[in-house]
Amino acid sequence: MKVFVLTGAGISAESGVPTFRGENAAGPWDVEAFHRYSTVGAFEHDPAGVHRFYNGLRASVADPAVAPNAAHRALADLGRTLGADLTLVTQNIDDLHERAGNPSVRHIHGELGKIRSVSTGEVVPWLYDVPETDSAWRPHVVWFGERVLGLAEILQQVVTADVFVAVGTSGTVPPAATLVHAARAAGAYTIEVNIAATPASSVFDRRSTGRASVVVPDLVDKLIKEHHRQARLA
Ligand code: NAD
Repeated sequence: MKVFVLTGAGISAESGVPTFRGENAAGPWDVEAFHRYSTVGAFEHDPAGVHRFYNGLRASVADPAVAPNAAHRALADLGRTLGADLTLVTQNIDDLHERAGNPSVRHIHGELGKIRSVSTGEVVPWLYDVPETDSAWRPHVVWFGERVLGLAEILQQVVTADVFVAVGTSGTVPPAATLVHAARAAGAYTIEVNIAATPASSVFDRRSTGRASVVVPDLVDKLIKEHHRQARLA
């Protein structure tokens, strides 16, 4: 059984990282500031402002109060059980899936904990403030107008999935928002986990309404049981 999981900001909300939209939106995770500072043009005209904004986000995720929750941990269990049969794709730029022990995570919107050389494209881990005077290195984050990372491979995986799960995503940011359509068209059973209905809800075969930290462990338990059942039959 192949499982494809797409996570969004909602999975990290209970870990203390606010979402852009919905009831948790707050603090440095301000959607208007994100729009202002997340373009190549903004970095060219105001690298200090861009670094200040991303330094703020980096610091907020490094806060000791921010830690993986039961949903991140359950998906790590699923990854250890399914191995290559789990594709875990996140729109999040935080590192909570990794901190929970997920063996393999694809960050289609990049990673806050990395920076990229503007001239060579070299990517290095970076957990500290970037000096505001530095215009040679930029956040390793996908900005508006830029291509998401690894899309071709992700599309290959999504059309071979038996089960597609979207957790804590508003389904409004393309191309991630289109993945459920590709999965469904290829025959996957599709499940949405969210505290509220989203514009994409009607596309899914099943909606599990509730907090990710409650719904995801239960769902993962069922998926692991099904995996073992199919393994016994094989
Ligand atoms: P979004 O902010 O647009 O939507 C969040 C969704 O999560 C909403 O539908 C909300 O109802 C749901 N939600 C909130 N709390 C939840 C909970 N406890 N359990 C289940 N669902 C919950 O998020 P998105 O769709 O991921 O938007 C995409 C953009 O936001 C991405 O580009 C992403 O990089 C960025 N973002 C990332 C982070 C992060 O890295 N943690 C945080 C904020 C925004």
